Amino acid sequence: AKAGGRNTARFFDPGMQTAADRQLALEGALRDGLAQGEFVLFCQPQFDSAGGLVGAEVLVRWRRADGELVGPDAFIGLAEAAGLIAPLGRHVLEQSCGALARWRADATLGALKLAVNVSVHQLRSAEFPDQVARILADTGAPPRRLCLELTESVFAEDAAAIIGRMHALRRHGVEFSLDDFGTGYSSLSYLKRFPLAALKIDRSFVHDVHLDPDAAPIVEAIIALARALKLDIVAEGVENEAQRRFLVAEGCPTLQGYLLGRPMPIEAFERRYGGAGRA
Ligand code: C2E
Ligand code: CA
Ligand code: CA
Ligand code: CA
Repeated sequence: AKAGGRNTARFFDPGMQTAADRQLALEGALRDGLAQGEFVLFCQPQFDSAGGLVGAEVLVRWRRADGELVGPDAFIGLAEAAGLIAPLGRHVLEQSCGALARWRADATLGALKLAVNVSVHQLRSAEFPDQVARILADTGAPPRRLCLELTESVFAEDAAAIIGRMHALRRHGVEFSLDDFGTGYSSLSYLKRFPLAALKIDRSFVHDVHLDPDAAPIVEAIIALARALKLDIVAEGVENEAQRRFLVAEGCPTLQGYLLGRPMPIEAFERRYGGAGRA
């Protein structure tokens, strides 16, 4: 959000006075950026509690023509409002599945799960499951390595339709995880109705776990809940050793955060973690 605010200001030509003008200019820039292939994938590694690499999360960045890197907080909401999240989301999925297909040949990378953020706008389309299935088939990505991250905002949608689309993808082997868990206001009953494989504990809870006497029991409760529902758990935003130690002691199986690995360009991720040998 911090980088996003600074970057957003850059698009605003002082000559463009109204919010509508600015919106239009940014929409145009987004559209052009998509056509020019300026949206690139970063990957952040995920580890098990013993420190073994188990997966990665894809985080999109906008690499502008002048080389500036813009974070998603500055453009995802605008892309959604402008009706551009469908082509952007498709691009991210195509690139992600391309990576999964490439990784098959590598002993380390080929065993990883790749988590891809999906906007609720994408799931509103009845075509979405077919679109994902087609991308998987066209790229040759193993569907079981793909995990789509949704936020609690999907619970505010037509639940039956969304659940149907999720089941259609589950039949292909694609998994779902619930991102930013605990920040929404959803009823816990949704956790049973939606075919989820994992919960991601929001980083706001992880942040305070060793500082705020109220944060620790919340994280403990989320871990217990996930376990009772047989869901995997990923803690995000692990920044220091005290947080890591707490989470491991509580039995959190999967960890992600700056302490363990920063988001990096996918090519750097492949160089860093791949190459151990052929699968
Ligand atoms: P998110 O899904 O909650 O992703 C995690 C965010 O936390 C990322 O920010 C990541 O860089 C950041 N992060 C990772 N480790 C740490 C840590 O230890 N400490 C702190 N403070 N932050 C950490 P990023 O990359 O700026 O992404 C922001 C949000 O943009 C994501 O939040 C996600 O909601 C959205 N997003 C990213 N890529 C996509 C995409 O391809 N499609 C859609 N629809 N949304 C995306
Ligand atoms: Ca996410
Ligand atoms: Ca998250
Ligand atoms: Ca978030």
